[in-house]
Amino acid sequence: MTDSHKPLEDLLHENRHFPPSNEFVDQANANNSDIFNRGKNIESFWEGHAQEFQWFRKWEKVLEWDCPWAKWFVGATTNLSVNCLDRHIKSWRRNKAAFIWEGEPGEERVITYADLYRDVNKFANCLKSHGVKKGDRVTIYMGMIPELPIAMLACSRIGAIHSVIFGGFSVDSLIDRINDAQSKLVICSDGAFRRGNIIPLKRNIDEALKSCPCVEKVIIVRRIGEAAQFHTVEGRDLWWHRMMQEASPWCEPERMDSEDPLFILYTSGTTGKPKGIVHTTGGYMVGVGTTHKVVFDIKEEDVYWCTADIGWVTGHSYLVYGPLCNGSTNLMYEGAPDWPERDRFWSIIEKYRVSIFYTAPTAIRTFMRWGVEHINSYDLSSLRLLGTVGEPINPEAWMWYHENIGRGKTPIVDTWWQTETGHIMITPLPGITTTKPGSATKAFPGIEVDVVDEEGNTVKEGGGYLVIKKPWPGMLRTVWGNPDRYVQTYWSKFKNMYFTGDGCKRDKDGYLWLMGRVDDIMIVGGHNLSTTEVESALVDHHDVAEAAVIGRSDEITGQAIVAFVTLKLGVKGTQDKIEELKSHVARKIGPISRPKEIFFSADLPKTRSGKIMRRLLRDIAEKRNLGDTTTLADPSVIQALREKYEED
Ligand code: AMP
Repeated sequence: MTDSHKPLEDLLHENRHFPPSNEFVDQANANNSDIFNRGKNIESFWEGHAQEFQWFRKWEKVLEWDCPWAKWFVGATTNLSVNCLDRHIKSWRRNKAAFIWEGEPGEERVITYADLYRDVNKFANCLKSHGVKKGDRVTIYMGMIPELPIAMLACSRIGAIHSVIFGGFSVDSLIDRINDAQSKLVICSDGAFRRGNIIPLKRNIDEALKSCPCVEKVIIVRRIGEAAQFHTVEGRDLWWHRMMQEASPWCEPERMDSEDPLFILYTSGTTGKPKGIVHTTGGYMVGVGTTHKVVFDIKEEDVYWCTADIGWVTGHSYLVYGPLCNGSTNLMYEGAPDWPERDRFWSIIEKYRVSIFYTAPTAIRTFMRWGVEHINSYDLSSLRLLGTVGEPINPEAWMWYHENIGRGKTPIVDTWWQTETGHIMITPLPGITTTKPGSATKAFPGIEVDVVDEEGNTVKEGGGYLVIKKPWPGMLRTVWGNPDRYVQTYWSKFKNMYFTGDGCKRDKDGYLWLMGRVDDIMIVGGHNLSTTEVESALVDHHDVAEAAVIGRSDEITGQAIVAFVTLKLGVKGTQDKIEELKSHVARKIGPISRPKEIFFSADLPKTRSGKIMRRLLRDIAEKRNLGDTTTLADPSVIQALREKYEED
């Protein structure tokens, strides 16, 4: 699928290489590339790591694979809350901070492993006392407060299947998700703080429950107090703090089969009904615990901060389950990065001496736009490792992150994975891998990925579809209530391969360059071009803060490139600037990629998890009805863009 005879790296306009420093290698958890050889035997690799966890009963078989149905650690029993808590409170870690929490208005809470253990046990008993049993579904809808991981761990202790719904979702999304899971109980907070405003979570629940007859009880955490303004429903609503006062501090953990479901997490998907992705217990635990330890080089003394909301899979795997399996100290921040000022993240890093920082490219591009003056007055010298996830990171954003946050020293792990994969699949290992800005590098050991063409043949060098060829421990097992959809969506495009839906290029060194969803591939004049490539070229221009590129239909070239660009603060969006940017892209990638149209916009339409909704931009450019915009963080952005596009 490459579109020229130039070497792939030139096409990707990226030749910079960053080997790990000797200083980092010497102390790294993984610093011997033999780990990749060991990873070739998938079963023995994961079995080796599984030994590090606590099981009530060991497995009879590591893997049973009847494509597309996988069972990992067959016959074993365990409990994830035991692995996250009981193991640690038997050692000195009982007094170690599990969570350091900072509220948006500025409060601080430090929760030790012993505190967390006590509260999880108590809350597990509260759930039991209201009839929640193994296999029952429980919906959780809260802001980023410690009660959220406590509720999740309490569910896992008694074997209830949690379904966390991001606090930014609206009433309609709640109805779909609660009814699909048939949840018996809902746990929510009265509200959440966001940029000084109050999000009325309990009021949303009340509205949603009018259409969700399956829900019997609602447990409310008091976060906001009076200002949340809602009514309690007699016989249905219960207060968290009242129940906790009376609950007993020990709850026998349920012996969970390795394949018993642990949670459902709905992926919003750009079209259709949300899919309830099902993750099970044993494999998921081994997958998240191992990847967290190796990829983030976790040490006892680290202060680790994953900025994702727990409502997304990154929060489940790398703010709750992975880090707690490893006994880490996790920073958890409730609010927005620009509240009250645009320096909030950097002040948090300085204050708590954060050593590992894991965030998303969209956040990095926002920080770039805000400018370094918000950063430079802070001491970020505690940082020793940076990570990114969620989207391809443009090389210029990678370089900016490296220079301004990493001070040119810390390794960056660009981690590729999905809600469906459960844990990180493609990533550098920070003590081993030489990184190239914009490449997620290679598969994690024990994971077999490939780049294939339309027929499923391996593409040794060049572009194609990213697939996964062997089962992995944290893989989704099905779509809740819809096994056909599981088979159709992931296992029917190619025989015996998991279809990720992502385009990917492989360079001569075998490095992988994620190119975004395959529907983000443009075909211009018979050449395949990825939206990511053109976006990277635009962001490489010193006046550009962020760019979203789409291919719209064009009579002559099949598709024409249209770019929506956010300029840095203070830069004027003139006609000359449009021409300058078009020429810049043509110079960086080649004349074929010269955008036909460029529009300036103060904001781009994004989902609540920060992904740019290119589908909507395509609809604008092709003058179609916009369809469903409920997954957008701010629907007014798209309306303003449409008006502007039609004016021009
Ligand atoms: P989600 O299931 O919402 O976490 O989204 C998964 C999708 O995000 C993947 O299929 C990719 O398109 C994208 N993604 C996640 N991490 C990366 C990354 N490091 N590089 C490129 N794309 C990524």
